[in-house]
Amino acid sequence: MSTVKVITNILEANDRIARQNAQLFGTAGVYVVNLMSSPGAGKTSLLERTVDALHGKLRMGVIEGDIQSSVDAERIGRHGVKAVQINTGGACHLDGNLIRDAVEDFALSELDLLVVENVGNLVCPAEFKLGEDIKAMILSVTEGDDKPLKYPLMFQESSALVINKIDLLPYVNCSVERIEERALAINPALRIFRVSCTTGEGLATWTAWLADQVAGKRPRARA
Ligand code: MG
Ligand code: ZN
Repeated sequence: MSTVKVITNILEANDRIARQNAQLFGTAGVYVVNLMSSPGAGKTSLLERTVDALHGKLRMGVIEGDIQSSVDAERIGRHGVKAVQINTGGACHLDGNLIRDAVEDFALSELDLLVVENVGNLVCPAEFKLGEDIKAMILSVTEGDDKPLKYPLMFQESSALVINKIDLLPYVNCSVERIEERALAINPALRIFRVSCTTGEGLATWTAWLADQVAGKRPRARA
């Protein structure tokens, strides 16, 4: 069997499990976000801010994916929501199987929003479906405005792009306009947010949009 064939089979098997997960989430009426970015772009920081903003309004749960350690789950846990840590033990992305196991630790029907923080990586997390409602990605301005050109699949697959660390724009050689232009050329439907998890700028727009998406799923799921 050729390598291409093997990879195709792996992705097809994963898609099947992801569809089962999606069915589970639909029955429970929980909205699931697959949050992706490179390491250090601010996934956990955005999640901490999002939890603080929405915790009283929505019942939230978090799954943290990392190659190793539980520091991110501990960070989220300090904000008062349940966070389950997955350690992939070397694998550079989460897959449907890992999520199926992790959600057993939650009472899904008691949640409105489950956010899955994927392993920090701009490549294969975009290829492996988890059963999520949407993929969202973060790009920080310190990474540069060429990333949509280099990693187009992630931008194509995402419904939302959060451009983080805009407070650092005066110090870096990066154009937000160029990021947006290049990202929208790949995915014209992409919803873009400019935020700083340090200063809090732009976060209210992001959390309001996210809460709207969650509200959109609930009536259908519970009808
Ligand atoms: Mg993290
Ligand atoms: Zn990978």
